[in-house]
Amino acid sequence: MQVKTDFDIVVIGGGIVGLACAYKIARAHPSVRIVVLEKEGRPAAHQTGHNSGVIHSGLYYKPGSARAATCTAGRKELIEFAKLHGIRHDICGKIIVATDAAELPALERIRKNGLENGVEGLERIGPDRIREIEPFATGVAALHVPSAGIIDFVAVANKLAELFQDASSRNKVLVYHRVTGFDKHDFYTNVLTTKGAFSTRYILNCAGLQSDRIARMDGIDPPVRIVPFRGDYSVLNGAAAGKVRNLVYPVPNPEFPFLGVHFTRMVDGAVECGPNAVFSFKREGYRKTDVSFRDAWESLSYRGTWLLFARHWRYGLGEYARAFRKKLLVAQLQKLVPSLTSEDIQPGKAGVRAQALGPKGDLVDDFRIEVRGNVVHILNAPSPAATASLAIGSHINQVATECFGL
Ligand SMILES: Cc1cc2nc3c(=O)[nH]c(=O)nc-3n(C[C@H](O)[C@H](O)[C@H](O)COP(=O)(O)OP(=O)(O)OC[C@H]3O[C@@H](n4cnc5c(N)ncnc54)[C@H](O)[C@@H]3O)c2cc1C
Repeated sequence: MQVKTDFDIVVIGGGIVGLACAYKIARAHPSVRIVVLEKEGRPAAHQTGHNSGVIHSGLYYKPGSARAATCTAGRKELIEFAKLHGIRHDICGKIIVATDAAELPALERIRKNGLENGVEGLERIGPDRIREIEPFATGVAALHVPSAGIIDFVAVANKLAELFQDASSRNKVLVYHRVTGFDKHDFYTNVLTTKGAFSTRYILNCAGLQSDRIARMDGIDPPVRIVPFRGDYSVLNGAAAGKVRNLVYPVPNPEFPFLGVHFTRMVDGAVECGPNAVFSFKREGYRKTDVSFRDAWESLSYRGTWLLFARHWRYGLGEYARAFRKKLLVAQLQKLVPSLTSEDIQPGKAGVRAQALGPKGDLVDDFRIEVRGNVVHILNAPSPAATASLAIGSHINQVATECFGL
């Protein structure tokens, strides 16, 4: 039955994923009326606006996974998009540095994985070549990844919002609209917000750090819970910024989906180091002391969180210690760039990752998308979802086309 609704699709969340989905669906289906509801006063206010700004090449992710496929495809599309719309970016390449021989097997596994994922130009290099690329970095060997780069993801999100609204006068991005619930009917749903209700036929849940709560509003018990992990960054001061040309990464611990504290030149020229990965007591809390009792209770009353803590308590304590003791952080950074001193770094921004955790304490490492009736829930969109956003948007457009019969 055809019911007259305010919109055909409500997208919840104006981060890069929600906006890329809206943009892709609007391009494929110009007559479909779409609104993006964003609770903050601007797009990209959370993960998208607090990330490392790195265009990932796709070498870490399990071959055949959605992350691997969308990262490789999404990266290429993102670069074309940035060129076309004049968005600041630079395919400057990166090196992943093994600082002692014990890390060499893991470095080799990453290289092979990257080859399987079709990452171009990978090259194993020795100490001399490391110094040519990054004169202040040292290591026993490294992987040079020429296809990695940096970009302004907030500018990408803003451009997607602009293009999506330009595609039809009926498409809108509404800020300061927090979704608070659903009032479901047979052929439509009223999406309740802090600024009134919107009737719609279909819904996309792209709420990032709040995606499991939106799923619960929809009456489903999501198989995963979002547990927030904060990542603190530091910034290299003045002359010290000259000690890093582009991107210098450590060999990551294979047990975790996080890439380890790395050096990143941002598009504005600043050099950041981070992010660490510490359990956060607030989903959208960017200061070390931020606490939300609701958020903390939801994480700490979840069995999966305690199983994760039990398994990885040593790693977790190490991350906490480095977050609060500069000396330990500097020692960690000096493994990659030995001449750095404590005076070279000062505290920078922070980001909070929406990490989906399974009931057995398993860190869900691939994207997780669930379709329930007239709603598509994106329950896990961790890094490299910003790099992969346009490819994720294409995939969600396919899902919506099939499942919603657009
Ligand atoms: C520290 C850090 C570093 C990272 N580094 C990189 C990187 O270098 N490269 C890369 O590719 N990826 C990186 N990522 C991952 C990437 O940033 C995220 O995967 C991506 O931004 C997720 O986008 P999103 O739209 O799903 O989430 P978000 O950007 O968090 O957007 C979700 C939006 O939903 C809104 N929302 C939530 N609840 C509601 C509600 N009830 N009503 C209305 N709106 C709501 C929020 O306000 C928010 O704007 C990093 C992430 C972090 C945290």
